[in-house]
Amino acid sequence: MAGARENGGESSSAQLTVYGIIAAVGFLLALISIPDLPAFGNPGWLDGGAKRSLPDNFLLPPGEDGIEAAPTTPATASRSVTIRRGDTLMKAILRSGSDRKQAHAAITSLKDVFNPKSLRPGQTLTATFQEIASSQKGATGKAPKKLVALRLNTDAEHEFAAERTTDGDFTSHGIVKELERVAYHAGATINDSLFLAANRADVPNRLIMDVIRIFSWDVDFQRDIQRGDRFEILYERLHDESGKPVKDGAVLYAALTLSGVHYPLYRFESEPNRFEYFNNKGQSARKALLRTPVDGARLSSRYGKRRHPILGYTRMHRGLDFAAPRGTPIMAGGDGVIESIGRNGAYGRYIRLRHNSRYKTAYAHMRRYAKGMRRGKRVRQGQTIGYVGSSGRSTGPHLHYEVLVGNRQLNPLKIKLPTGQKLKGAELARFEALRQQVDVARAETPLATKLAQRR
Ligand SMILES: [Zn+2]
Repeated sequence: MAGARENGGESSSAQLTVYGIIAAVGFLLALISIPDLPAFGNPGWLDGGAKRSLPDNFLLPPGEDGIEAAPTTPATASRSVTIRRGDTLMKAILRSGSDRKQAHAAITSLKDVFNPKSLRPGQTLTATFQEIASSQKGATGKAPKKLVALRLNTDAEHEFAAERTTDGDFTSHGIVKELERVAYHAGATINDSLFLAANRADVPNRLIMDVIRIFSWDVDFQRDIQRGDRFEILYERLHDESGKPVKDGAVLYAALTLSGVHYPLYRFESEPNRFEYFNNKGQSARKALLRTPVDGARLSSRYGKRRHPILGYTRMHRGLDFAAPRGTPIMAGGDGVIESIGRNGAYGRYIRLRHNSRYKTAYAHMRRYAKGMRRGKRVRQGQTIGYVGSSGRSTGPHLHYEVLVGNRQLNPLKIKLPTGQKLKGAELARFEALRQQVDVARAETPLATKLAQRR
């Protein structure tokens, strides 16, 4: 990828995926950012982050306008409660002030559109009550409250409502709220780790993890990142009507410049609903095998001669050790078939996958296997096959990972891994058009000044 040049030139006239539209419309819209830095020659690479709005036409299905007001609406009052651990819908509604009978009627209706098993702590439930005229006071002398509506916000985008109809029953529906997609542009010099640098540029943590995952086929994050390297990201977040970001979107573009070599990756829909990252030549970032089959793990021991910490002798370590908390999911390094599964001496709980006639990978010291794993089972790259543990001869929870070529363990960091898909023909042309649009959008969207001094 050395010497790869970016095409910051003309934008293509082809109209294609939403990303083309993002890029095309993006720079027509106002930048919501701190005043720009003076341009430093290479506008895509200024420090900081900037964002801009995306067009309406790829918003989610429009939401509904909610309850229609009755012609003469008596006074109503609403009360919101937050779902707690161990709550049922009933418990939460009772806490909002409803009686059990009305709550039961509302729940029965709500179940038409909402599965109560999807109730999670942190969701909010709002009950709306109508005061009943004092002539209808109950035995206690206190006016009972009539539950007229119930709203459950399950996440930033989804809401479920049960509403009392004129005949007194409840009717329910689900609402998908309109969120605005906003593109953000961030970049900075890396002085410690990519994670910390991106974190300081206000990139949401989940998206930083996505970037790490996107690059994990090519980059050894322990070894390859040097002080002075750079990153750049174009990503999207979803904003609610008040302009608050409520949900992280996708990483549209990510680039690392490592020791002066530029590695750009673009998100592209290579097949319907299948998004993958491709470099500027249209080569998939995805390789046949993962280098790091656990997320967020620290490489604690490399392949090679190693001194035994207690006994002092040296012996060959034929794999990579990744320290990770007990229970961390272990992913299949590539598509393949389980060739061996079970206790295997010093390896403890062990799985070996056969990927093709040449490559195998092995996973040791597992705490347990994922559900359904058995000899002969076919697994997909990235699928969880087990969980980090310390079974066998192990001093603490870690994954021991081996890559075997023709039954011999080789250094996973040194192997030139088989590459993934290369775009061709019409696909490549479609990708080229997208790439140019993204590059124009990057050039047109300055990064904020916030981190300008951090060099
Ligand atoms: Zn090991």
